[in-house]
Amino acid sequence: MRRQSIGVVLCLFLALSISTAAVHAQPPVVRTADPIKRGLKLTDFPRTIKVADNVYTYEDFHAGPEKFTTTNMFVVTDDGVLVADGQGSVAETKGLVDAIKAVTPQPIKYVVVCSDHGDHTAGNAAFPAGVTYIIHPTSKAILERSPNGWKPPASAMLVSQQHSMKLGGEAIDILFLGRAHTGGDLSVSLPQQKILFLSETYLNRVFPAMRSAYPSEWRKALDRAEAMKPEIFVAGHGFTELGPVSKEEFRAYQRALDAVIAEATRLHRAGVPVEEAVKQANWGEYASWTLASSQGPIAIRKVYEELNGQLK
Ligand SMILES: [Zn+2]
Repeated sequence: MRRQSIGVVLCLFLALSISTAAVHAQPPVVRTADPIKRGLKLTDFPRTIKVADNVYTYEDFHAGPEKFTTTNMFVVTDDGVLVADGQGSVAETKGLVDAIKAVTPQPIKYVVVCSDHGDHTAGNAAFPAGVTYIIHPTSKAILERSPNGWKPPASAMLVSQQHSMKLGGEAIDILFLGRAHTGGDLSVSLPQQKILFLSETYLNRVFPAMRSAYPSEWRKALDRAEAMKPEIFVAGHGFTELGPVSKEEFRAYQRALDAVIAEATRLHRAGVPVEEAVKQANWGEYASWTLASSQGPIAIRKVYEELNGQLK
C-alpha cells in the first residue's frame, strides 16, 4: 500500500512537471518572413510587440501579393515618444499612431525617417502635426524630388553621420552607418538597452532588395552595426526577433548579403552577360527567401553596375 502510494505520488509529480515544462517551453521560432509558415494568421496583423519595458515594434503587411511585414519601432519615455519609420499608407500609419496611443498617453515628438522608400514614408501625414522629423540629407533630397508621396517639412532635422540625444531618461543615437539599402539609411540605437533598429539595412529573411542599394557599402554597414554589439537587432522588414534568435538572424542576413554579392560577382567574373546572369544565378538556400524571385534579377543588375564602376 505504502509502495503503491509512493508510486502514485511519483506519477503525479512527473505528470505535473511535464505539464509545467509544456507550459513554459517556448515553441521554436520558425525562421521565415512568411506569416503563414511562421504559424500566424493574416488576421494577427497589424500587431505591437513589446521588446523592452518602453520599447515596442509595430508590424503591418507590406503591399503586394507576397505577405511580409513592414516593421517600425517606437520608444516611450516620460518626455514623449520617438518613432522609427512609418508604414506605406496614411491609413496604415494611422494604425501605428493608434497602437502607440494604446500603449501610452505620451505624445509623439520625433519621427526618424530611416528609409526614404514609400513603404516607410507614404503614410507620414498620419503623424501628428508638429512632430520633429529626423532624416539624412540624401533621403530628404530624394523625397523632395519624387513626384508623389510624402515630402519632409523644411523644419526636418538633418543627420548626416550621428546625432545623440536624450529623451526622458533614454539615450538615443541616430546613426548613418553608410549607404546600404538606400543612399541615406538611418538607424536608431538605444545604447542603454542594447537595441538597434536598422530599418531596411536589415531585412529579416527577405531577399536583399537592391533597387536603390550600394551592395558592397551595404555589407560594410552591417559590420558597423555588429561592431556596436547590440543584443536585439530590429529589421525594417520581416519579424521582430527577441532573445538569442535576434543575433542569429542578423548573422544569417549578413551571410545572405555575402552570398548574393558573391554569386553575382562570380557570374560577372565569368564574363556572363547581365541578362544571361539573371537566368543563371543560383541563389541556393536564399531562393526560398521572401521576394527572391522578384529581387534576384535586381540584385544581379545592381552588383554588375557596381563592379562596372557605374554606381556613383
Ligand atoms: Zn521597404
